[in-house]
Amino acid sequence: MTIDDLTRLDSTRIFVNGAWVAPSGGEALPVEDPSTGRIIGRIGRGGLADVDAAVEAAAAALEGEWGRLTATERGRILMRMSALVTARAEDLAMIETLDVGKPLNQSRRDSVALARYLEFYAGAADKLTGTTIPYQEGFTAYTLREPHGVCGIIIPWNYPMQILGRAVAAALAAGNAVVLKPAEDASLSSLVFASIAAEAGLPAGALNVVTGLGAEVGAALAGHRGVQHLSFTGSVATGMRIQEAAARNVVPVTLELGGKSPHIVFDDADLDLAMPVLVGACMQNAGQTCSAASRVLVQRGVYEEVRRRMAEIYRGLVVGPACDSHDLGPIVSRRQRQSVQGFIDLGRRELTLAAEGTLHPEAPPEGHYVLPTLFSEVPPDHALAREEIFGPVQVLMAFEDEAEALRLANGTDYGLVAGVWTRDGARQLRMARKLHSGQVFINNYGAGGGVELPFGGVGRSGHGREKGFEALYGFTRVKTVTVHHG
Ligand code: ADP
Repeated sequence: MTIDDLTRLDSTRIFVNGAWVAPSGGEALPVEDPSTGRIIGRIGRGGLADVDAAVEAAAAALEGEWGRLTATERGRILMRMSALVTARAEDLAMIETLDVGKPLNQSRRDSVALARYLEFYAGAADKLTGTTIPYQEGFTAYTLREPHGVCGIIIPWNYPMQILGRAVAAALAAGNAVVLKPAEDASLSSLVFASIAAEAGLPAGALNVVTGLGAEVGAALAGHRGVQHLSFTGSVATGMRIQEAAARNVVPVTLELGGKSPHIVFDDADLDLAMPVLVGACMQNAGQTCSAASRVLVQRGVYEEVRRRMAEIYRGLVVGPACDSHDLGPIVSRRQRQSVQGFIDLGRRELTLAAEGTLHPEAPPEGHYVLPTLFSEVPPDHALAREEIFGPVQVLMAFEDEAEALRLANGTDYGLVAGVWTRDGARQLRMARKLHSGQVFINNYGAGGGVELPFGGVGRSGHGREKGFEALYGFTRVKTVTVHHG
């Protein structure tokens, strides 16, 4: 797949009721390659009428062929989708790299993850069961797990394939119908995914994809009376709007809103194991990862060594065009680049710069590049220690003991992921219990990896859990049945 192939893709249509249709307004939005600043294609600008049609198609699918399938049959379709994603993994990876600016080696991992989500939920579809409940004499009581119905899924631009995979595969496995709204900066892989779903035999209307702007398609979907569940991954500000819209229709909502996740490195940590992970867990996807380990808290005894070794790694990091798989690609858009650079400039004015990476000499000047930047001795109340930057920026802070480590780690509004590096088993268990976080990684940092592992946050990182079996519970509701038989 080359840029020329991509521009020939007719990506201006949206996918509604199993068909590719022109958006009602007839307008299109440009698709930019963040590595070069070039416009490489167009996507359709959907609107209210398109969301209406998609929700209607999804509701009809639940009443029709899709709703009549058994869980096993749903699983088989998902398995075919997984095989087709695997067969087209390289195309999907290239599309993502051109659309999002993600280094190709990282996009390849995303297409593998998408296939894996489909495989996992394909196998899980017919293993989701209710329970029987011991109750009064003369009664049989049990629960049924039912799909919510029409699910609105709104995804961001940073990991489109992974995030659509974890949400759409789980929603479909549980028997829901989906209206997917990809981010305007990264819609191409969702469109290819829709064509794969059709090829795999997913009945019309079970999955609909409406591209367009957040304030138009996203807002229409979030507020739609025909939607029974909302799932959103993105910024806190937009997440709040989604939850408000959900409240007005009294529908459940799953929110995954990012974080300010810490690595906590104790004096007894295996630094050889930790060092590459400390940096990599923030640099992947140029720091545009909700679970990025953007704070590194280090116990005083090894602080100086960790600072020195991290700085050395930073000086070796190269930023460049995504197709060439450098350590880091560009930031997704001009707007995001400005925001990240603003944080870096603030840090350079007010903090101690410990190290930065380098820009590849062939990086086009129109690309949205920023240098990976490490700041040390950062006060915990500084903006760079508290706010989500969503770029390749890490802050280093020292702590004296376990109590202070916990205070710092738990001291932001977020709580998505935490990494703890120590050989002390009792401390590992204490920290895992006391950290305010949806996931804790001891002597590793999974950064949201692992399809099987429930994922989600506390505080402003959101609520609800995706991935693993927990996602299936989230995409279903329980109905209690009692039979009085005397
Ligand atoms: P960012 O500002 O980084 O693009 P957002 O959280 O705004 O992050 O975007 C994540 C997703 O939410 C995208 O698909 C975007 O189109 C969508 N979105 C943005 N604004 C709204 C909104 N008001 N209502 C619903 N969806 C929205």
